Amino acid sequence: MAANPLLNHNDLQRWRACSRSFWLHRRGGPAALASSPPPAATGAGRLLRDADESAEEGVVHGPGINAALRASFPHADIIAAPGTPAEWAAAVQRTLDCLDSDRVAPEGWAILGACLTSGDRTQVRIDVLTCGEHGLRLFKVRYATVGDEADVDAMAMWVHVAARCGLRVQSAGLLLVDTGFTYPGHGCYAGLFREVDLAPVLGSRPVDAWVSAMKTCDRGPEPPATPGAQCSQNGGCGFAAHCQALASTASVLPADPQACLDIVGRELAADLRDEGHANLHSVALQRLDNPRHRRAALAIQQGAPVLEPAVAALMRALPYPRHSLRFDTIGFAVPLWPGTRPYQSLPFQWTCDVQGPAGSLVRHGFLAGTEGDPRRAFALTLLQVLGSTGAVLAYNAGFERNRIRELAQQFDDLAPALDAVLARIVDLFQIARAHYYHPAMAGSWSFRSVSRAVAPGVMLDRLEGVDESSVQAAFAHSLKPGLDSAARQRLRAALQAHGQRETEVLRRMAALFEGAEAVARHD
Ligand code: SF4
Repeated sequence: MAANPLLNHNDLQRWRACSRSFWLHRRGGPAALASSPPPAATGAGRLLRDADESAEEGVVHGPGINAALRASFPHADIIAAPGTPAEWAAAVQRTLDCLDSDRVAPEGWAILGACLTSGDRTQVRIDVLTCGEHGLRLFKVRYATVGDEADVDAMAMWVHVAARCGLRVQSAGLLLVDTGFTYPGHGCYAGLFREVDLAPVLGSRPVDAWVSAMKTCDRGPEPPATPGAQCSQNGGCGFAAHCQALASTASVLPADPQACLDIVGRELAADLRDEGHANLHSVALQRLDNPRHRRAALAIQQGAPVLEPAVAALMRALPYPRHSLRFDTIGFAVPLWPGTRPYQSLPFQWTCDVQGPAGSLVRHGFLAGTEGDPRRAFALTLLQVLGSTGAVLAYNAGFERNRIRELAQQFDDLAPALDAVLARIVDLFQIARAHYYHPAMAGSWSFRSVSRAVAPGVMLDRLEGVDESSVQAAFAHSLKPGLDSAARQRLRAALQAHGQRETEVLRRMAALFEGAEAVARHD
């Protein structure tokens, strides 16, 4: 019988979150297993596989990721991520050879992706392993501003394996992104990372006991599990269907998420629960003081949207030409353009539909290419299309306003024209909150939630024709040096189509609100 694969920190992360998830992953298993990828790789592990593959909640590491780590360790030995057991054996040997070398390690030396295996069948791949005065220094690279509990767990496992391999560990910590860093250009990333010592917290991690418990769990039957917050972490657990089939449906899913009491706020929801309500269907409208809550409860109870007729006059008063405007921004963890900082929100695409009073419609857009910092071209082209008259419709317009203010600060000569745009912006989010509710929103006022209500046929949840899961990931990928032109064009087309779907939602929202009186008469 083949031995189980060695334990690694992905196993530990799964086991700490949910022992059943760990067990199922270790089993391989049928359909659910095939659909469940391992947790997202972080740090150098990801870096050495594919620098541009990922987006973490709208923040992309950036095409400069390799350059950043190598700039910090210019004399590094780099060990590529092993896949097969044979590759692991070779990577461990290479790591030991690097450590055994008689040469004096030069300043800036490290092993990036050091692989070690210990006698208790645990294997680790250490992002950065370098020399200190009294032993080795281990670092986990996080393209984030803070670490989390999973980082401490992983580091505790790395130290455990290093010690069992007979290595003397002087320190263990994180390399986090320093948001005070400004990229000067020319690949100079010295100062991007800041060190955080994890020594004070590592003692709280009983890795010996964990390894032993994981092995026991791995050998045993499928463990019980109670679905909870862990099921939706890291993009959702791939075994949800399996667990829902095991549990009674009632215990896994809320009876009616669209009528959840929390829609009226947690505090009031707690009071309503105490009064015996299970959802908003049974709550008398007079019980709700806030008009927005009353509107939501009415929509839920009548099973149809509520749109206040008064909004029609408000919308009719908006001057033409009307500009429906959306921005897309990116915040690279590793800045790409000189003069920018980590995570700085940088606009790279705008989309604008211009409607005339007689019903004409012209669609415009700008999408940055590979030429460098796009902000000036972004601002110039935007000003050209917005002109000097007419309403500018946006949703949650603080976002667009802030980007325009930042552009005005960046480019003195464009500041007067950009500042003049601010006064013309109309926030459809504020108008919607004051006049509208649709049960499909389930208490959320995000653009996507409202779009599901006002433009149900317009799909905003994914990009069409490409694998990337976010506009940021698609844009970052489109900048990748050496990408073939057809792939780049596919990504750009997907981004432009996404922008146009978003402005279509804005137009439909505005049209719905402007026709509110007709809707009310029809009802
Ligand atoms: S769905 Fe939840 S309970 Fe089931 S394996 Fe995944 S994390 Fe565990």
